[in-house]
Amino acid sequence: MFEVDKETLEKWDKEYFWHPFTQMKVYREEENLIFERGEGVYLWDIYGRKYIDAISSLWCNVHGHNHPRLNNALMKQLCKVAHTTTLGSSNVPAILLAKRLVEISPEGLNKVFYSEDGAEAVEIAIKMAYHYWRNKGEKRNVFITLSEAYHGDTVGAVSVGGIELFHGTYKDLLFKTIKLPSPYLFCKENYGGLTPECASELLKRLEEILKERNDIVAMILEAGIQAAAGMLPFPRGFLKGVRELTKKYNVLMIVDEVATGFGRTGTMFYCEQEGVSPDFMCLGKGITGGYLPLAATLTTDEVFNAFLGEFGEAKHFYHGHTYTGNNLACAVALENIQIFEDEKTLEKLQPKIELLTERLKEFWELKHVGDVRQLGFMAGIELVKDKEKGEPFPYGERTGFKVAYKCREKGVFLRPLGDVMVLMMPLVIKEEEINYVIDTLKWAISELEKEVK
Ligand SMILES: *Cc1c(COP(=O)(O)O)cnc(C)c1O
Repeated sequence: MFEVDKETLEKWDKEYFWHPFTQMKVYREEENLIFERGEGVYLWDIYGRKYIDAISSLWCNVHGHNHPRLNNALMKQLCKVAHTTTLGSSNVPAILLAKRLVEISPEGLNKVFYSEDGAEAVEIAIKMAYHYWRNKGEKRNVFITLSEAYHGDTVGAVSVGGIELFHGTYKDLLFKTIKLPSPYLFCKENYGGLTPECASELLKRLEEILKERNDIVAMILEAGIQAAAGMLPFPRGFLKGVRELTKKYNVLMIVDEVATGFGRTGTMFYCEQEGVSPDFMCLGKGITGGYLPLAATLTTDEVFNAFLGEFGEAKHFYHGHTYTGNNLACAVALENIQIFEDEKTLEKLQPKIELLTERLKEFWELKHVGDVRQLGFMAGIELVKDKEKGEPFPYGERTGFKVAYKCREKGVFLRPLGDVMVLMMPLVIKEEEINYVIDTLKWAISELEKEVK
């Protein structure tokens, strides 16, 4: 290992490292935050300053950092072998994990295809769904998606995405989709909230499309909440309604549980809460407890079977990645799931969700809070310049970041989505730590009152 002093590290970070989703001009003008170690819900930077990781290191940490059991599982596998290919051969942890994922996921999802990131899990679902119809002798090529959807940043995942700011630039590169409105925004505007009537109206629109066309491959949507769009929940029953209609009109349904999976909404997967069993379920983020890049696309026997044939028929799925089913990542993922069971993570989470719900109410009192949204342990607090007029802060002012930087001063690490302050705390966080995060965020938001005229 080479060691360099802190100043050199900071200099090299700005000199050589192009950060994701980051305006590097601004980043290079600011003080950098370089993490060095973690334990439980805490992270320490190179100066030894301590922070609560209130966004689970971008929504993936579950049981805490530097977890002894996850460390052990990783080291045990590391002493055997780090990686062997799964293209035509197999490895022990990947087999065990596939079986485990089938056991814990909604009924009917019996097959597991691995990849490394959420976007890839989505790409795979898209390609499989498209290919499924080809193998069945049907040429279908249109996907139904939602405005404000986020499914990752590779070109296929961007094609089914709907966040103008991220995706608009690439328009000419993308395949065509039919877009339904974002349920939250549509319901708020037309029904004043997430009412059952609004869900019915959206489903009616979906049915009109499905009735008219025979070229629909699949409908893809996030599970219960459009997270990256700023934590925009669906009306209850919407997901279930989509399942019923896609079944009725013989169209596949892809549910993206990359953000919501592994306990974030209070159950292992959000699909459970509406009794939905999709044709594809995409998993990522929390699957390894936040340790290693791993993702999975789960699907049904029906889809799997459509790819079976003699070699010469060339029906098989010509897709794979070098690290598909990586031994280390799968070993950690297995242990991650086992910890859920052994430590009763989901049971212990329920009072924390209640606490979060109670405490989120306090944000409505703040002058610059325009909306507060929550699904399970996921929450978004939207900042506005003028509450009465619903007027946002100008985009370039980076108000969300300013609030996040204030929180840093008090040892809370946050990353907003635009002007939506996101809370995605590790599931193991303690109640007093939740209270500290909330108190700090409330304080930081109210500090805005001093600055805004
Ligand atoms: C984060 C996210 C993705 C993309 O996952 P990556 O691992 O960043 O590629 C896809 N879908 C949803 C719902 C996400 O939140």
